[in-house]
Amino acid sequence: MSKGLVVQKFGGSSVANVERIQNVAKRVVSYKKKGFDLVVVVSALGDTTDELIELADKINREPSEREMDMLLSTGEQISVALLAMAIHKLGFEAISFTGAQVGIITDTSHTRARIIKINADKIREELKKGKIVIVAGFQGVTLSQDITTLGRGGSDLTAVALAKELVAIECEIYTDVDGIYTIDPRIEPKARKIPEITYDEMLEMASLGAQVMQARSIEVAKKFDVPIHVRSSFSDNSGTMIIKEAKRMEDVLISGVTLNKNEAKITICNVPDKPGVAAKIFKELSENGVNVDMIVQNVSHTRSTDISFTVGKAEVHKTLKITKRVAKNISAGEVLADEDIARVSIVGVGMKSHPGVAAKMFEVLAHNKCNIEMISTSDISISCIIKKKFAEMAVKSLHEKFGLGK
Ligand code: ADP
Ligand code: ASP
Ligand code: MG
Repeated sequence: MSKGLVVQKFGGSSVANVERIQNVAKRVVSYKKKGFDLVVVVSALGDTTDELIELADKINREPSEREMDMLLSTGEQISVALLAMAIHKLGFEAISFTGAQVGIITDTSHTRARIIKINADKIREELKKGKIVIVAGFQGVTLSQDITTLGRGGSDLTAVALAKELVAIECEIYTDVDGIYTIDPRIEPKARKIPEITYDEMLEMASLGAQVMQARSIEVAKKFDVPIHVRSSFSDNSGTMIIKEAKRMEDVLISGVTLNKNEAKITICNVPDKPGVAAKIFKELSENGVNVDMIVQNVSHTRSTDISFTVGKAEVHKTLKITKRVAKNISAGEVLADEDIARVSIVGVGMKSHPGVAAKMFEVLAHNKCNIEMISTSDISISCIIKKKFAEMAVKSLHEKFGLGK
């Protein structure tokens, strides 16, 4: 009798070399021995995805997104096959599949496709035969058989979506840190592990730059109430549970500090101050699939004003091209791109009911002689755009001043 199904996902660093793949195989097999059914989702080996992106860039700076997906999906195909072989070597039955083979059907937005449905019958059949099923993360297929990918970090999404579809008892995300910390432990050794965190807090942290979980995967987990256990593939320590409600008497004021260096600030100078202009700019960008974040427009005292917004660094090229064209059409001035920026944020559900959190954040930044270029707030977070050179110092100070450190 099976003890139930567990979905385990292993990130790139967990399968970066032969020894680590063998290590993962041992862990998977140990769960099988305990009587669990297993679906294992794997990312590409180490930095393979980044290397493939660099390779494409050398051939064509504006590659077709369809071909990008053909290229990037190969990374995960390598890892699933190698992991299956490693499990066979330990004397257990395993079978590997690509996203397309196990019916992960997506829309047609290449490089950031959304899952429409999963036809998981093939997985169920193989599980019934007692096999460990290994699925390539980060990928799917459109109804017209084109291969797609689910956005960076998308293996997390594959794992959560499969856990939901197959009604797993747990979704384990194995990575190179012991769980979710109050700040990236690579930046701040005084980071503290958080035993339990809510979907809302994790979603905010992930969206604001804590790369440990893909934000979209948390959206899906929240929607379907899939509990996630984030833990290290290098130890047996328990990690962080991401759940609906953390067992805390009162909400903590600040649960984490994040840093994102992957954004750029675009400024359109001298935009005519009249109705419809902002709509024109942002409609054009959205129609071209550019995801715009923080937008700042000042009230003008003359007849024109500057509009600034942030986009992902990977989209700067495309954004500039579109924005320059629109700027010309609406008789605006120069368009500038600044990649020398970073976003520092604080996240916490408790800030909803506590005044003075923003003031304290600005004070900490001021104390570090750090100028704030843009500010944005949500119910449970505050973000500031600052110059990159201040980034690490700023997040460490915020971490300390909000009392998060060990
Ligand atoms: P994987 O390859 O397993 O998907 P990622 O590199 O995507 O791993 O994510 C793990 C990394 O996320 C860690 O090495 C850590 O440096 C970083 N990280 C950023 N913020 C946090 C945080 N708040 N808690 C834990 N890890 C974090
Ligand atoms: N290999 C993909 C990436 O690097 C997906 C993942 O690791 O989750 O983004
Ligand atoms: Mg990841």
